[in-house]
Amino acid sequence: MIVILLGPPGVGKGTQAKRLADDRGWRHVSTGDLLRAHRRDGTELGRKAQAFMDEGELVPDDVILGMVDAEITLDDVRGVVFDGFPRTVEQAEGLDRLLDDTDRSVGLVVVLEADDEVLVKRLAGRRSCPECGAVYNVHFNPPETEDRCDRCGHEGLRHRADDRPETVRTRLEVYLEQTEPLIEYYGDHPAPVERVDGAQDVDEVATELARAVRGVMEGAAG
Ligand code: AMP
Repeated sequence: MIVILLGPPGVGKGTQAKRLADDRGWRHVSTGDLLRAHRRDGTELGRKAQAFMDEGELVPDDVILGMVDAEITLDDVRGVVFDGFPRTVEQAEGLDRLLDDTDRSVGLVVVLEADDEVLVKRLAGRRSCPECGAVYNVHFNPPETEDRCDRCGHEGLRHRADDRPETVRTRLEVYLEQTEPLIEYYGDHPAPVERVDGAQDVDEVATELARAVRGVMEGAAG
């Protein structure tokens, strides 16, 4: 099944997508993570994306669609959880075309919602491990030892440059202008759309998300 997690920056898409993908044995595809890996590796795509990411603006649709096309394969037939993609109507149309070519389709769209105040606080506290990608929050989910990754032991967690307050403001505006219209796009789409309150505790969000996925899967089976 193909699941899309939609929602503003900081709402918890990454955490929830990882968890759902792990639970189900599906693949987690985060275009933000893929772009950051390209930047780290110094690829041409990474260089193209850099300025947009630093400003909190969207990377052009053709770059993103090319990257996703190269990334998802028929081996992912069991399931994919998209996080941070699609982010524009053009990307959503592109994804539909891409899936159509291999007789697949979007199975569920989940919109995670939270007030700007919650989002800004979460992004300000977010830290990640440059080594293994584990994500923490100094307010809500700190590592056991300050600044040390619980998962791999790496010392020195990072605050993403684009999580700084000035860039966060731009990212929230970009979400409202370019990504929120997608909710309407999916309203007219065969895939069901579920809204989940992303301001709840991580476990509560995960439970609601898992319930929505189960609902679709049972519907498809029955
Ligand atoms: P994220 O980790 O999802 O918050 O993404 C970080 C940054 O990567 C965004 O602010 C954009 O600059 C870029 N980005 C990630 N995914 C996309 C996408 N689907 N379309 C355009 N830009 C993206």
